[in-house]
Amino acid sequence: MKEQKGTLFVLTGPSGVGKGTLLSRVLPTLDSLFLSISATTRSPRPDEQDGVHYYFLNRGQFEEKVRNGEFLEHAQFSGNYYGTPSGPIDMHLARGEDVVLEIEVQGAMQIREKRPDAAMIFVAPPDFPTLEARLRGRQTEDEAAIALRLQTAREELKQIPKFDYLVINDDLTRAEEELKAVFLAERSRTNHRTFHMS
Ligand code: 5GP
Repeated sequence: MKEQKGTLFVLTGPSGVGKGTLLSRVLPTLDSLFLSISATTRSPRPDEQDGVHYYFLNRGQFEEKVRNGEFLEHAQFSGNYYGTPSGPIDMHLARGEDVVLEIEVQGAMQIREKRPDAAMIFVAPPDFPTLEARLRGRQTEDEAAIALRLQTAREELKQIPKFDYLVINDDLTRAEEELKAVFLAERSRTNHRTFHMS
């Protein structure tokens, strides 16, 4: 049994829903799965490092990369640009390695158009008040930014039917198991594997 070209996974869902936390727990348990590092014009948070959490760019640098066609997708979110550099992704996929993008919903929709084979996963909160409490609790945004993220979240949640999988992050351990099951199931699909008789 030999793996063919790798699988592209897209993990999306509202800001504050716990996409990053879920991925940080599932990623170490799966081999050959790489997390794409995005570029953004947002300022780094105190614990964030350039080239590790994001590539932090100014608007001019970001727009130049857009013009050069360096992003697989890009979107504006809460007043900043975010984009997925395509080079590293194509390199991993060509090697038969899987890649996961952790991005917001507009970007996910662009991937769905460009890469119809991508496995599309939506992470939702159990309800809206829980999302609001989580966004406030992490204390990374001011009140105006939180309000904007919540307003955006309402629109994002309407897109759930366009996704292949829905993981509800009510209990972290359970959601983590569900997300891992999605990765494993996708990897077992016949169109992602080749069987050799001899
Ligand atoms: P944050 O500012 O909280 O790190 O991210 C804000 C939102 O942008 C999150 O929903 C995050 O998943 C999303 N995001 C991060 N990187 C990208 C990217 O490359 N493209 C898109 N479209 N969204 C991204």
